[in-house]
Amino acid sequence: MDNVPIPSHTRSAQSMPVVAMVGGGQLARMTHQAAIALGQTLRVLAVDPADPAAQVSPDVVVGSHTDLDALRQVAKGATVLTFDHEHVPTEHLAKLVADGVTVAPPPEALVHAQDKLVMRTKLAALGAPVPRFAEVTSADVAQQFAVDAGGAAVIKTIRGGYDGRGVVLLDSPEQAREVAADYLADGVPIMIEERVAMRRELSALVARSAFGQGAAWPVVQTVQRDGICVEVLAPAPELAEDTAATAQQLGLRLAAELGVVGVLAVELFETVDGAILVNELAMRPHNSGHWTMDGSVTSQFEQHLRAVLDYPLGATAARVPLVVMANVLGAPQTPQMSVDERVHHLFARMPDAKVHLYGKGERPGRKLGHVNLLARPGDTPDAVRERAHRAAHWLSHAQWTDGYDEHSGTNISGANISGTNISGTNMETGTDGD
Ligand code: ADP
Repeated sequence: MDNVPIPSHTRSAQSMPVVAMVGGGQLARMTHQAAIALGQTLRVLAVDPADPAAQVSPDVVVGSHTDLDALRQVAKGATVLTFDHEHVPTEHLAKLVADGVTVAPPPEALVHAQDKLVMRTKLAALGAPVPRFAEVTSADVAQQFAVDAGGAAVIKTIRGGYDGRGVVLLDSPEQAREVAADYLADGVPIMIEERVAMRRELSALVARSAFGQGAAWPVVQTVQRDGICVEVLAPAPELAEDTAATAQQLGLRLAAELGVVGVLAVELFETVDGAILVNELAMRPHNSGHWTMDGSVTSQFEQHLRAVLDYPLGATAARVPLVVMANVLGAPQTPQMSVDERVHHLFARMPDAKVHLYGKGERPGRKLGHVNLLARPGDTPDAVRERAHRAAHWLSHAQWTDGYDEHSGTNISGANISGTNISGTNMETGTDGD
């Protein structure tokens, strides 16, 4: 059977590269979406066939990212292996590299997104601005650090945290002592850092290809609630031009110095004095880059594929002066109205809302999807934010934030706030400019 010719209709498909991604979450799902446009199919290692990416890719290996056999299986024959999260044990990655697998980002780079202490230490050595930090080897160390930092500090688990899990904001040295003692008693490695007085959080998203080409998107503002990103403003409003340029250059420099291949998100704090400090690194598509799907010439998902496949990178310019991304986070109580019906009503009211749903079951606070809203001519930033928030809230809660009634087209005060404009386009008007 060795010499059976490949039928001509399958030949071109076979010549396309195969990117394998570890993790079957929404990032893999949206990377698959970008892969389709490039004539490819993303291969996915998913824990469960119901995972967001496993639902949509026909090339799925079901298994755990901590199981070396499963990792070997998904990597077999793939052009490159990449990630939708950073939780693969470093020693497994070393074995894959020894097997001859191309891993992007390579394990020596990825460790800086896996281990916060390694990351902080390396960034400090590279001269990148970071909050003052220390490894916590005893409750005494934590208490003393907090005293030296003026009382307020933050304890973080060194590995395994995400969406604010494993991050404890502390108000006093006594609290630092207690929290540290609890973690250490459980054998969890932790670090402590100064609690930064910040104006806001920013993200510098860049990509670096295997060849070493770099590209940076406009710097964005991220808004977090309870440690979870709820909103992204692209670009960050009223960010000083030199600060934005510094942040972009920092992102590109770190990508190069750490040897990142793929997308790198550099999460930043803008301090009350206007300085920037690096908080976190993520070496994969990132929530702060979801706006690029509709708002940039090249989406972060396409760019990640280009980077790991060593294609030339795409243009990163924004399409409009402001894009707002709002996450759809599961409501405290799942609404009776089906998601399908919610989408229907949203589209009826807001034809320009770009909806991205991840195919996940609804649970309180869970990231179920996101909505991108592009500024229309004359829009104020607040108007775009309000529309994005309204759309995302509607999708998760089945409630309009302004009391609109989707059946009568009126709000609670009875005023008609929806209708058909002269050009025949069904447009939301409402109270956006308020
Ligand atoms: P995760 O790995 O879970 O994303 P982060 O280190 O990004 O954790 O922290 C989550 C959130 O906690 C940040 O977005 C920020 O709001 C807050 N935070 C983290 N570190 C500090 C700090 N040193 N000072 C003040 N707030 C912090």
